[in-house]
Amino acid sequence: MLFKQARPAGLPRPDTAAWDDGGVSLYRDEGVVIRTHKLGEADRIVTVLTRRTGRVRAVAKGVRRTTSKFGSRLEPFTHVDLQLYEGRSLDIVTQAESLHPYGQRIAVDYARYTAGTAMLETAERLTPEEREPSLQLFLLLIGGLRALADGAHAPGLVLDSFLLRALAVAGWSPSLRDCARCGRPGPHRWFSVQSGGLACGECRPAGAVTAAPQSVALLGALLAGDWVVADASEPIHRREATGLVAAYLQWHVENGLRSLRMVDRTDGSARGSDDLERTAQAWRG
Ligand SMILES: [Zn+2]
Repeated sequence: MLFKQARPAGLPRPDTAAWDDGGVSLYRDEGVVIRTHKLGEADRIVTVLTRRTGRVRAVAKGVRRTTSKFGSRLEPFTHVDLQLYEGRSLDIVTQAESLHPYGQRIAVDYARYTAGTAMLETAERLTPEEREPSLQLFLLLIGGLRALADGAHAPGLVLDSFLLRALAVAGWSPSLRDCARCGRPGPHRWFSVQSGGLACGECRPAGAVTAAPQSVALLGALLAGDWVVADASEPIHRREATGLVAAYLQWHVENGLRSLRMVDRTDGSARGSDDLERTAQAWRG
């Protein structure tokens, strides 16, 4: 199915600008929709983390009309196969086929939804430059969303595993055995986000906190994808690991992540539907 050739004001004409460059103007890729913005009366700008092209933003025309056949395929969490026109600033979606509508099975559960939203926001924050391929992050995101949708593990564990591995892909893998400062063989009981993980008693940087060995073991399991160990972990160690992951993430990702504060850790801390709605609105724009 093709969009009409009309274009939003201010955008380059895809049928002239791109062709005139003499380069490839039409391309296919698969990706995960990580954000949408309204554009004009009926259009949306969709932000997609693609397998081959990296993070791209593209205009999807007419998708907010009730007659649009692929509006629902361009919602956050959806794994889609896309055909796009390459534009000067924004690409134009010309075809969209849903491969896996993960959103349907993620939105039914508040803990899954908030964890998934934090994953999407992290994926966007870790790809500051558009069109820089990040295959590993794409694969992590697909795997994480699938695990959330399947309910295979506690949503909080899936999220923390995704965050740790996404940070590792970005080059910020925490040291979970030897001292992150001097390399002294561990295990150590101090954890310092500024130093990059565990720290020995001699280094013990300012701001370092103690971490239970079981919590550190859980971090290692989540980083390695060892679900037998992770699933068997105790709630108290999950909470401590979650706190360490959040601190570590926020140290590395400037300004932190607003959606992370909304995550329902299913530890009895109820949050109102107003908060959920605000998060959803903030995310959808
Ligand atoms: Zn040390």
